[in-house]
Amino acid sequence: MRKKIVAGNWKMNNDLAATQDLLAELKKQVFPEDVAVMVAPAFTNLYPAYQTLREHPVEVISQNMHQSDKGAFTGEISASMLKSVGVNTVIIGHSERRSDFHETDALLAEKVDTALEKEMTVIFCVGEQLSDREHSEHFEVIKTQLDRGLFHTSKESWEQIVIAYEPVWAIGTGETATPKQAQEMHAFIRETISQQYGDGIANNISILYGGSVKPNNAADIFSKKDVDGGLIGGASLKADDFMAIVNAFGK
Ligand code: PEP
Repeated sequence: MRKKIVAGNWKMNNDLAATQDLLAELKKQVFPEDVAVMVAPAFTNLYPAYQTLREHPVEVISQNMHQSDKGAFTGEISASMLKSVGVNTVIIGHSERRSDFHETDALLAEKVDTALEKEMTVIFCVGEQLSDREHSEHFEVIKTQLDRGLFHTSKESWEQIVIAYEPVWAIGTGETATPKQAQEMHAFIRETISQQYGDGIANNISILYGGSVKPNNAADIFSKKDVDGGLIGGASLKADDFMAIVNAFGK
């Protein structure tokens, strides 16, 4: 079902003490009932975060996972391991994974399959580089990422899929897509999904925007009809800013 979602991606920030401090701040807040709120701490802090938020509406999610279930993959974490510490949602295909860790569309498709098989929810990230937009190739780039990463999945799987549109040029740069640019791309993503899977699935899918969402621009972006929430990096590390973003949507 199409849901409003605000997810904080904490990336490689916050040791255990800082994680607990931030969680303690979040626990004091009252969250709007119509917004699903999620936070993605580092792997080492997932279980403590899960324990801290056990009776709380905020969901603890993962920033990544490996495509295999177990074996000789030094330094990696599997879907089963995530599930064993209470994590049922995973971000796949973040642009930092695609660029810094060379994760290809084919690899991401494998990760998606594994997560779906393990009955996890996938937040699948797509986004164009600035040069793609300058060459007016942004729609084609997003279509290709969807096609290669997700469009092999069954119709039934789409109950477990959320999309995050994150233009790479807007991530961590302070530069945000305008609400109009975000709406235009979200509508395009929905239309592309509709062509592949039909209107029912396209209208039910939540499409989040990510890229320098801050308290002062969140309401404008979230007001657009095809924007169903946000994936928030930097601003999710401060409880007040994160809450202001959540509340910009919940109002
Ligand atoms: C992100 O990394 O997913 C992100 C959107 O970061 P920021 O909000 O800092 O641009």
